[in-house]
Amino acid sequence: AEPRLVAVRATRISPRLSLLVLRDITERERVEQMRRDFVANTSHELKTPVGAVSLLAEAIESAADDPPQVRIFAGRLTAEAARLSQLTSRIMHLSRLQSADELTEARVVSIDEVVAAAIDAHAIAAASAGVELVRGGERGLHVRGDSQVLSEALGNLVANAIAYSPSGSRVGVGVKLADGVVEVAVADRGIGIAEGDQDRVFERFYRADDARSRRTGGTGLGLSIVKHAVQRHGGEVRLWSRPGRGSTFTVRLPLTDPPDDIPRKKPRKK
Ligand code: ADP
Repeated sequence: AEPRLVAVRATRISPRLSLLVLRDITERERVEQMRRDFVANTSHELKTPVGAVSLLAEAIESAADDPPQVRIFAGRLTAEAARLSQLTSRIMHLSRLQSADELTEARVVSIDEVVAAAIDAHAIAAASAGVELVRGGERGLHVRGDSQVLSEALGNLVANAIAYSPSGSRVGVGVKLADGVVEVAVADRGIGIAEGDQDRVFERFYRADDARSRRTGGTGLGLSIVKHAVQRHGGEVRLWSRPGRGSTFTVRLPLTDPPDDIPRKKPRKK
């Protein structure tokens, strides 16, 4: 964007000379606008589950002399509360990722471990959806960053691949090195994403198929978290998809040398 300059201080140095201190407010305004939008659509998204929780609490109160009814309402209350708690922790996670001081503690991270953690975290979901998770590609690659943040981001992609795929299909997680960039691709043969939605799915709270996403427990924050987590690592996310054919999300991160205590594949000759 064009810089927009405002004067923050003017000092008269001599009758004919003044010193003007200027500041570019474009970036600050953009950040401020983002924050306002975030608060606005977060509040909007929280309204529905909060409303459901209070309605169910009222229902339980008025059904006090009907224990079977109370049990049903209480079960739904528990489910809504769990959803609310997932939503708030995702909102906090995203807000931390968007703030500047996230990755101060970057370490050398093993991609093998990140991929394994992402797959393990969703193995049960995959099994109950009848989806087979397959890990392929290169081993022994490293990047610099926060392994927790990375495995959660990759886990979001795996969770989506499972959620938007039919039973009996396969989800592949493949690792590849291309020109100093580690590429981790999560590929499914699921419902796919229409071309017009492909950029928008990375926006927070955006759902291409609202009803289905809510049914699968979606918050519309998963891909937004992925995008910010990967950008924090100096990387990017790419998406290929065709409706009815499937989707492939590729996380690209700069390669790093392995830590000193792990031997390289081909040790250098002395
Ligand atoms: P959600 O929690 O709703 O899954 P995400 O931010 O993770 O939110 O994804 C945003 C939307 O992108 C989803 O609601 C869904 O419509 C679409 N989407 C994400 N991943 C996939 C996928 N692997 N296949 C098809 N659609 C997907």
